[in-house]
Amino acid sequence: MKKIFLFFISLGLTFSSLMAKEFISIGTGGMTGTYYPVGGAICRLANKNKDIRCSVESTGGSIYNVNNVLKDELNFGFVQSDVVYDKYNGIGNFEGKSDKNLRAVMSIYPELLAFVVSKSSNIKKYPDVKGKKINVGNPGSGNEFTALTVFNEYGISEKDLSHRGVLTAPESPMALKDKKIDGYFYMVGHPTANITDAAISLPIDLVSIDEDVADRIIEKLPYYAKGVISKGLYDGVDHDTLTIGVKAVLVSSKNQSDASVKAVVKSVLDNFEEYQNLHPALKFVTKESLLEGLSAPLHPAAKEAFIEAGVLK
Ligand code: GLU
Repeated sequence: MKKIFLFFISLGLTFSSLMAKEFISIGTGGMTGTYYPVGGAICRLANKNKDIRCSVESTGGSIYNVNNVLKDELNFGFVQSDVVYDKYNGIGNFEGKSDKNLRAVMSIYPELLAFVVSKSSNIKKYPDVKGKKINVGNPGSGNEFTALTVFNEYGISEKDLSHRGVLTAPESPMALKDKKIDGYFYMVGHPTANITDAAISLPIDLVSIDEDVADRIIEKLPYYAKGVISKGLYDGVDHDTLTIGVKAVLVSSKNQSDASVKAVVKSVLDNFEEYQNLHPALKFVTKESLLEGLSAPLHPAAKEAFIEAGVLK
């Protein structure tokens, strides 16, 4: 009898501790990118909170994440700030598809568009893509979204390419090595394992955007900024590469529970030094930079966490 009683007590305890936990998922990107390991870092910190069980999902990228966060299929998602802005406001590719339920939770780190080419492709500037096999990006990725913005400004269209690839970023280095493609786009936090791997598999180069083209894009779309991928970051790329960049932003829907949003932001703010050391792309992040380039209204529970930490007034 006593045994049965104890069994029920422990069962009751297990149930109540399970019930107290809130399970949350973070949509990221390809496993060799930067979203995925940084999402893992955020979950690791969030899981210090015994009421949260956080897990990451590898996904197709920004567009997939924003759409699935808004459908409540994902609790949180990593999304490029250009995509966040256009989705919230219903402009560009999201014309007529505005969703005002989108909320920013925190900014994560800057992402810079990399146009990675094989040295043997002889692509030195953007207009050289004519007649080449270029992987613009998989549907659902932010890579495709931003690459097309740049192509558009150059007046380059799909028919100028001999092949327009739709591979995911993780598939691209191998395709480059096998000469199935001459180049691919990746909007990513640097350094990233994907390009490091490409650079050790074959001689690669990164292609700079022309400054006047970058200026024209920024004039029209102020959420872009100019940025430089420093020389020496990837094997064989011994020049600085001028490009455009955005912020990677953690988003949720307006309906995401205050408790989970606050727990995620607080776990990063409370363990900030540990956070900065969890991935090289986080090295230069400051607490203040977590509020830069959000592109959608801040979730009220995130705001509360920033105020409590003294980062926001
Ligand atoms: N920015 C990319 C995208 O939205 C993903 C980058 C990454 O996985 O680190 O598709």
